[in-house]
Amino acid sequence: MAKNKTNKKYIFITGGVASSLGKGLAAASMASLLERRGITVTMLKMDPYINVDPGTMNPLQHGEVFVTDDGAETDLDLGHYERFTSLTLLKKNNFTSGQVYLKVIESEREGKYLGKTVQVVPHITEEIKRRIHLASESADLLIGEIGGTVGDIESSPFLEAIRQFAQDVGQQNVLLIHLVLVPYMKAAGEFKSKPAQHSVKELRSLGLFPHLIICRAEQEVDESIVDKISMFCNVPKQNVFQSIDVDSIYRVPLELHRQGLDEKIIELLGIWTASPDIREWKEVIDSIENPKGEVVIGVVGKYTELHESYKSLHESLDHAAIGHQVKLKVQFINAKELENSKTPLDEYFQGVQGILVPGGFGESGIEGKIRAIEYARTKKIPFFGICLGMQLSVIEFGRHVLKLKNATSEEFSLSGDFLIHYMEGQAREGKKGGSMRLGAYGCSVEKGSLAEKVYQSSEISERHRHRLEVNNDYVEKLKSGGMIFSGMNKELNLVEMVELADHPYFIACQFHPEFKSRPFSPHPLFYSFLGAALK
Ligand code: GLN
Repeated sequence: MAKNKTNKKYIFITGGVASSLGKGLAAASMASLLERRGITVTMLKMDPYINVDPGTMNPLQHGEVFVTDDGAETDLDLGHYERFTSLTLLKKNNFTSGQVYLKVIESEREGKYLGKTVQVVPHITEEIKRRIHLASESADLLIGEIGGTVGDIESSPFLEAIRQFAQDVGQQNVLLIHLVLVPYMKAAGEFKSKPAQHSVKELRSLGLFPHLIICRAEQEVDESIVDKISMFCNVPKQNVFQSIDVDSIYRVPLELHRQGLDEKIIELLGIWTASPDIREWKEVIDSIENPKGEVVIGVVGKYTELHESYKSLHESLDHAAIGHQVKLKVQFINAKELENSKTPLDEYFQGVQGILVPGGFGESGIEGKIRAIEYARTKKIPFFGICLGMQLSVIEFGRHVLKLKNATSEEFSLSGDFLIHYMEGQAREGKKGGSMRLGAYGCSVEKGSLAEKVYQSSEISERHRHRLEVNNDYVEKLKSGGMIFSGMNKELNLVEMVELADHPYFIACQFHPEFKSRPFSPHPLFYSFLGAALK
C-alpha cells in the first residue's frame, strides 16, 4: 500500500448508540463549512452491508437510491453531500462491504493471492484502504462517513481499516469524529451520558480514539452532561459539540458553525484558512423563516410511509419553495387508495395547486396515478411527472385522448398497446443489479417549448434510472393528438420530455431532475412547477 506523503487530511465520522442520527447531514454540513473556507473537499460513504449497492433494496427499507452522473446507484447520503456542497460525486464516493468482498474474492479466483490464506485482515482492510485513497484523489481533505453503528459486527473491518489508515498516512492527518445519541429520559427528567460513554469505550477497544464528539440530542444538552462526556470519553470539553433537532436540515451548517466546529476542525488538523463565507446559508434560512405565501403540492405515490423513499424529491420541492420564498405543504396522496376509491377526486385534491407524480417501479398504484394525471390534465392543474410519472402521462394520453383503451406499459402487462416498452437490452426477467439505464445523458430541448423556457437552454444533461421508454412507433400518433415531445436524446432516439399544448403547465421527464437540485440553486423544473402552482 502506497504511503501518503502529502499533507492530505482525512476526517472519519462514526456513529454511536443508534442509527438514523443524521451522520450524513453532519458530514455534509462540515464539508460545506470547510469548502466555504476554501479547502478542496471530497466525501466518501462506506456502507457495511453486503449488497453490492442499494439499487436492489426496497426504498421502504433503505430509503431512496441516489444516482450519480457516472451511473452509480448509491446511498441517499450522497444526495445530502451534493446538496450541501458544490461537489458532483462519482461511483468511487460510495462503496459497500459487498463491493469490497466481491473484489477480493474475484482476485482470489484470478490467483492474485496464490499460496496465501485470504483474510479480513489484511486483504479486506487493504481493499478498504485502497478505496479510501481512490476517493480522496484530487482533494485536499476527505470526509469519510462509516455507515451503521459502532459495535455492529459488520462495521468492524471498516473501523480496523481506519485505524490502519491513520497509521499509514500519519495520525496528525486524521481526525476522528464520533456522533453519538444522548437520550433524554422523561421519567428521570434528564439527559443520559452513559450510552455515549459505552459507545466510545467500544471505539477505544478497537484502537480508535475520537478527537471530537458530537452529541445528537432532541434539545440542548446540559453542561453537566457535556462535562461527563468529556471526562469519561477522554475528549477536551471544547471538543464536545451538539447537534440538536432542527426544523430545517439547512440550519445544521449554521448551527455547527455557531458552535465553532469548523474552526476546531482546522485547528486540530493544523490547516490555516479564512473564515467561511456562509452568506448563502443565511439567505436560505432567511427565506425559510420569512415566507411570503404558501403552496400546496399533491404528490401521488406509493411510498407514503417513508419520507426517505422520496428524499431528493422532497428536498427539490423545498429548494423551489426557498427560491420562491414560500412555505411548502406536501399533500401525500396514496396512489393505491386512488385506484378504486369512490370518493370524488375533487376531495383528494382540494386545495392542491400542483400535482406531481414521481418515479416508481411495479404495477401497484398505477391506475391511481393515471387517474391523478387525467385529473390534472382535464382540470388544467399544473402537472409535473417524473420517470414513471412521464410514462404514465403518455399512457393516460393514449387511453383518454387517442382512445387507445388498451394503452399500457410492458412493465405492467403482457398484452395491450405498449406505448411504453423495454429499451433495447432491457427485459422483464433481466439481470437485476446495476443494469438499468443509469447516470447522466444529454437531451436536446425543442425550440419554443415549455421545456426551453424552463431550462433557458437547448442542450441539457440529467440523470436517469429506468428500464423502459416511450415506444417510438406511437410518437406520430401521440403528436397528432397534441402531445409535444420537447426533449429528445438524439443519439439514442429516446423521448426524454413530453408536454401538452392546451394546458397551462403540463410537463414530464424520463430523467430524475431531483438528483441535481440544490438549496441555493433550485432545479429549473421544480422552480417553474412551483411558480405555475403559485399562479
Ligand atoms: N419503472 C419504470 C422504468 O423502469 C420507471 C422507473 C423510475 O421511475 N425510476 O422505466
